[in-house]
Amino acid sequence: MVVQQASTSVADATRQPWFCSGCPHNTSTVVPEGSRAMGGIGCHFMATWMDRSTIGFTQMGGEGVPWVGQQPFTTDQHIFANLGDGTYFHSGLLAIRQSIAAGVNITYKILYNDAVAMTGGASRSASGPKVTRCCRSPRACTPRARRRS
Ligand code: SF4
Repeated sequence: MVVQQASTSVADATRQPWFCSGCPHNTSTVVPEGSRAMGGIGCHFMATWMDRSTIGFTQMGGEGVPWVGQQPFTTDQHIFANLGDGTYFHSGLLAIRQSIAAGVNITYKILYNDAVAMTGGASRSASGPKVTRCCRSPRACTPRARRRS
């Protein structure tokens, strides 16, 4: 009996990490054609190695802020920044406030999964803001004149 040896050993096998099936990030990290996004801290960082035009990342609470320095030196007019709801509650609101203060053209996508997935799915429902409050609070930081436009 001839036993054929596999050409690839288990040690050579690679498996690229990916979003869990059913994870909302599977769709929420997709950007419109021709657009690009910046990554951040959280499972959605994995979008940087998926085919969805997501480049770079920052420390927790700095999501999208590199765009403040980049925009004057690029022909791109707009960028998306991915920001998890756990990070938003921790310090991400500060990143949004900085972008508003700098007046850059950026769209934050608050990826709402109602959990701090990085720490094993810790629920933040009891203490954190609901999605409607997430959307309203940056507006409170926007100067009145800019809010009307
Ligand atoms: S956010 Fe939750 S469901 Fe999505 S990839 Fe991370 S652990 Fe999986």
